[in-house]
Amino acid sequence: MNDHCPTIREIELLTSHASFTAADLPARKHRTLQTLDKEFEVVIAGGGIAGLTAALVSARLGRKTLVLAGKALGGLLLSIEKIEGFPGYADGIPGYELCPIIQEQAVAAGVEFAMTDLRRVEAQGNGWNAKTAQGDMHARALVLATGSTLKEMGVPGETRLRGKGVSYCASCDAPLLRNRTVAVVGGGDSALQESLTLAAFAERVIVLARGEKLSAQMVYRNRVAEHPKIEIRFATVVEQILGAEKVTGARIRDTAGDAAADLELAALFVYIGLQPNTEFLKGLMRLDPSGRIPADDQMRTELRGVFAAGVVRSGSAGRAVASAGDGTTAAVAADRFLADGDW
Ligand SMILES: Cc1cc2nc3c(=O)[nH]c(=O)nc-3n(C[C@H](O)[C@H](O)[C@H](O)COP(=O)(O)OP(=O)(O)OC[C@H]3O[C@@H](n4cnc5c(N)ncnc54)[C@H](O)[C@@H]3O)c2cc1C
Repeated sequence: MNDHCPTIREIELLTSHASFTAADLPARKHRTLQTLDKEFEVVIAGGGIAGLTAALVSARLGRKTLVLAGKALGGLLLSIEKIEGFPGYADGIPGYELCPIIQEQAVAAGVEFAMTDLRRVEAQGNGWNAKTAQGDMHARALVLATGSTLKEMGVPGETRLRGKGVSYCASCDAPLLRNRTVAVVGGGDSALQESLTLAAFAERVIVLARGEKLSAQMVYRNRVAEHPKIEIRFATVVEQILGAEKVTGARIRDTAGDAAADLELAALFVYIGLQPNTEFLKGLMRLDPSGRIPADDQMRTELRGVFAAGVVRSGSAGRAVASAGDGTTAAVAADRFLADGDW
């Protein structure tokens, strides 16, 4: 388990299939809740860009701040080869480079980290008890920045062949697919962006889009249309992933003509949307129909002292810079709330 965003060297080691042990990681202190105080002014759940930015801003405002970072810091950023449209990086920046930069800023500002999930939230006194597997933490303000997980298709073979050719991380697996044929499921930004990542290595990338049109931004639609290795099949759904020990193909159906066919593939990448990580909040607060957390323009939820930030929030713009902006707004609003108690 990493208690930090992997560095480029670590990513290389992890993806090169070189023998990789914990000794290759730089020595950093692994903190557990047992070694920390139990009282914080601000506790942030989630160590993606929203949570890390909220933590950085909160600590810079002088607030005693803890991040409950779940299993690994970095969130969705970690699996993205190139974050585009992020101000300040004209050529884009790998997500796994952006993450350690923000983490180091947060550490320098005095943020504390614990590698554990927030499991439940309970009102206590004038604040909230954040319940984790390592015990309870108390905070007057809580920022929920637990992000999202890539959705699964739910078709036969998907779970069985996960990690054996079924993948949700193009930047992790693309170098292993040199000169092979792969498919990407989806028609939005993530699907097209990751098709481009794959096309740098694979011989052929087939994009399987359910609709008659792609919903991705124009910039990605144009790049994909011009790419000689990428082919798009519209009105196509995956019915089954084929292969005994590893992916050998997929059974697809053309929804217009209703014809099924088998595609020969070395791997299949699923980018059909995001599922918010809010299971643990059910019964505590109202969620929108998609499972995201409604919040106002200061990121305040319906619970006094509880804020939401990032792609877990209803109406998030879904971009990295928007998550960072949410984190900033939540931290500033939490600081004001702690100062004057107004809600
Ligand atoms: C393939 C792909 C490509 C993308 N490309 C771009 C791009 O080019 N440009 C751009 O601007 N954006 C891009 N995005 C979007 C961008 O990555 C996200 O908007 C951003 O990373 C979301 O950050 P977040 O902090 O809100 O959530 P996340 O990154 O999801 O982070 C949430 C964190 O919270 C943790 N967590 C979950 N539950 C708990 C719990 N109970 N307790 C504690 N922690 C928990 C998670 O494990 C995770 O680490 C892309 C997204 C994808 C999927």
